[in-house]
Amino acid sequence: MIPGNEPSFRESVDLMFNHAVALMDLPPGLEEKIRVCNATYTVRFGVRLRGQIHTFTGYRSVHSEHMEPVKGGIRYAEAVNQDEVEALAALMTYKCALVEAPFGGSKGGLRIDPRQYDEHELEQITRRFAYELAKRDLIDPAQNVPAPDMGTGEREMAWIADQYARMNTTDINARACVTGKPLNAGGISGRVEATGRGVQYALREFFRDTRDVEKAGLTGKLDGKRVIVQGLGNVGYHAAKFLSEEDGARITGIIERDGALFNPHGLDVEAVHQWLVKHGGVSGFPDATHSAEGGAVLEEECDILIPAALEGVINLGNAARIKAPLIIEAANGPVTAGADEILRDKGTVIIPDMYANAGGVTVSYFEWVKNLSHIRFGRMQRRQEEARHQLVIDELERFSADTGIGWTLSPDFKQKYLRGADELELVRSGLDDTMRIAYQSMREVWHDRADVLDLRTAAYLVSIDKVAKSYRAKGL
Ligand code: GLU
Repeated sequence: MIPGNEPSFRESVDLMFNHAVALMDLPPGLEEKIRVCNATYTVRFGVRLRGQIHTFTGYRSVHSEHMEPVKGGIRYAEAVNQDEVEALAALMTYKCALVEAPFGGSKGGLRIDPRQYDEHELEQITRRFAYELAKRDLIDPAQNVPAPDMGTGEREMAWIADQYARMNTTDINARACVTGKPLNAGGISGRVEATGRGVQYALREFFRDTRDVEKAGLTGKLDGKRVIVQGLGNVGYHAAKFLSEEDGARITGIIERDGALFNPHGLDVEAVHQWLVKHGGVSGFPDATHSAEGGAVLEEECDILIPAALEGVINLGNAARIKAPLIIEAANGPVTAGADEILRDKGTVIIPDMYANAGGVTVSYFEWVKNLSHIRFGRMQRRQEEARHQLVIDELERFSADTGIGWTLSPDFKQKYLRGADELELVRSGLDDTMRIAYQSMREVWHDRADVLDLRTAAYLVSIDKVAKSYRAKGL
């Protein structure tokens, strides 16, 4: 994906790291210790399918073990390679540090086109891959906890969890060996939507500070903003859906594998999603113009560009032509180091991946805690909270009747106030809080330091400082 004249994805991440670390005062040697990837395990395994042995290549990379377990998804894609997995593992380290999820960074990948296999075949392949990783402690609730990524989802996580449980029959915490599981297999409400929801919360926090909005040359709130989304997978779909349905943003463009849809009045994201599921592509969707040259739509006029698919889509080849004043990186590494520089010089504001897509791992953290505590969030407090609220309502109504002021509470207020929070509400609240606090920590550095010109550098400074502190606490 990244053009040949540019550094690889991992080199790109390292360049951005180096750019930030040059502004810090780390003890000699620690900088390199943080930057390098600790280990990458490559596995080649055979699975008998359709009467023949097929050999697959998979990776699990551990970037930093300053905190354990290490955390990060498993990607299924044909383009998976060691360089990519290591870059993604490094991003996981910085991401977890930035949002204070108590994990080191890791990532896995299997070189496979999942669309070429049926469900039963995928299960056999996934179980075998999980077996290879689990027997080396590269899946383990205390050491390494995978999650979904591109090409994987709840189904694969359920197979992995079950495979681990079969291999560790007396491990009471077996379910915490992987996150992103379906609800009925130890998952948590709100994990599927989490990364897209996090993008929404990130943009809301961005628009809370007019100084930031002005830096991007924009005005006002999210309402009415023109948004182009690249990739309507799990992340892009949820981000676009929530932004349009809840914040009044207008999704003017959606770019997919088979081209792009464009409608200046705004696309119905749910309808496009349904169309995509049914037809396998966006072409033919009514109420929009379709252009086969999807990449060109990245360069269209809009207020916010959301790359939510692959790495390297904004590169030296197109960066100068990108018109969006604000880019939020819902994908990992969508902007190459070279493009990052061009955009920074142009004044484009980029909300960086390690922050923008951290919603996924944040809710993964909640799921892991839920699995270790063996209880659903809210189970103990919900009714007690409702009962206490009922006391207040009863008292207010008694007061109103006793004093004869004839004051009544609106039924809508009563209903909202009386309802105790369920797991989904608690998860969203925890995610919102996490995204706000992490953004504020970046914003502070961005505004306060004259030598920090962009949010990405600010994000690196905050996260590297946290990683460095935990290394120091370990005596390194
Ligand atoms: N694959 C996701 C990411 O890149 C989620 C990782 C996780 O939940 O551990 O952040």
